[in-house]
Amino acid sequence: MKHRIVSSLAFAAGIALMGGSAFAQVKIAYIDPLSGPFANVGEAGLKGFKEAAEILVNQKGGIMGQKLEFVGFDNKGSPQETQIQLKAAIDQGFRFVTQGNGSGAAHSLIDAINKWNARNPDKTVLFFNYAAVDRLNRGEYVVKEASMAKLKSTKVADEAIYSCLQMLGGYGYMEEYPLARLLRDSRLGPIGGGTSEIMREILSKMIIDKRSYEPAVKG
Ligand SMILES: Cc1cc2nc3c(=O)[nH]c(=O)nc-3n(C[C@H](O)[C@H](O)[C@H](O)COP(=O)(O)OP(=O)(O)OC[C@H]3O[C@@H](n4cnc5c(N)ncnc54)[C@H](O)[C@@H]3O)c2cc1C
Repeated sequence: MKHRIVSSLAFAAGIALMGGSAFAQVKIAYIDPLSGPFANVGEAGLKGFKEAAEILVNQKGGIMGQKLEFVGFDNKGSPQETQIQLKAAIDQGFRFVTQGNGSGAAHSLIDAINKWNARNPDKTVLFFNYAAVDRLNRGEYVVKEASMAKLKSTKVADEAIYSCLQMLGGYGYMEEYPLARLLRDSRLGPIGGGTSEIMREILSKMIIDKRSYEPAVKG
């Protein structure tokens, strides 16, 4: 549960940085098994996300003032049904999708969403695969994946905010508008808690020199 809550916060931060203010409410389609043999896993996940959204996001004012909501779509654990549920979610206006149980369903989503986004560049859909945190959930020390994620996500956030400022022009630069603060804060991402240069150094050592790292503190 703790890691799912952390994932939810990452969603919230990501969506806020992507300019969630264009939506009256931030809605995420949760496409996972809600019936059949794996229904208990899917339902537990949906309950965890809903609770995290309520306690950690909505009760603290939401994402830039907007409520975060997770809505369940039952894929019955099948890649084919996943595509049907994705279409239903898109038809209902969902632009954010999450899934985490079954690589078949994940591949099906990636394929369908890539095709949708190529055909609909003005209505793109973003897929968050929450199974990406599975190894961390199992207690593994995922330094390579975490370094990649930190390097990429802080760069994307920084670039997104930079583009938003350019679009708003002078208003975005003024302290009276929230974007000025977002711009300043987004610069911390590639600097704080391991700069981008250090992330690249860690990744180079691991990938090229085959070096491995142990946690500084055990347990
Ligand atoms: C607002 C804010 C809040 C912070 N909060 C915390 C906190 O709560 N906890 C905490 O522990 N720390 C915190 N920090 C510190 C943060 O972790 C450090 O700023 C960060 O690790 C970078 O270290 P530095 O500032 O000493 O930069 P330096 O190490 O002096 O680096 C300066 C520049 O040189 C580059 N550089 C340095 N070494 C190399 C190298 N070997 N190869 C290539 N390039 C290199 C860096 O990438 C960077 O671009 C905070 C910093 C800020 C600004």
